[in-house]
Parts: sequence; C-alpha cells; structure tokens
Amino acid sequence: MTILEQAEQLRKQAIDLLLAERILINSKLASLSYDVVAGEIKTRKPKACGRCGAEGHTVKTCPKPPDPSE
Ligand SMILES: [Zn+2]
Repeated sequence: MTILEQAEQLRKQAIDLLLAERILINSKLASLSYDVVAGEIKTRKPKACGRCGAEGHTVKTCPKPPDPSE
C-alpha cells in the first residue's frame, strides 16, 4: 500500500467517525428541540387548554368533563 492510499483510507475512517458522532450530536440536539434539518431552534408553543388550563391538549380533546356551571 502506498502512502497516498493509506492517507485516503485514514480520511475515510475520519469521515466515518465524524458521521457517527454527528448522529449522536443530532439526537442530542433533537432532544433539545433543535431542528437539525432546518438548522434552527424550534420555538415551543405551550398551548394551554381553554377549559382546564393544562398544556398538551385543547378544549376539544380535554379529558376533563365540561363544567356544568358554565
Ligand atoms: Zn383541558
């Protein structure tokens, strides 16, 4: 193997290692609500339910039964 072939092989190894690292970093970024594809931080919109005030659902999907006094 020539020195140039060896260098080429090392370059490919380095790229493989960096790609594996990137996958790990991307998953960490995704867990922090970072859009890896768009390259921007996702804005979180905490939509509170109009009926009970809890986040994650709307009035339509509220698990709480409607208040009879309303
Ligand atoms: Zn609710």
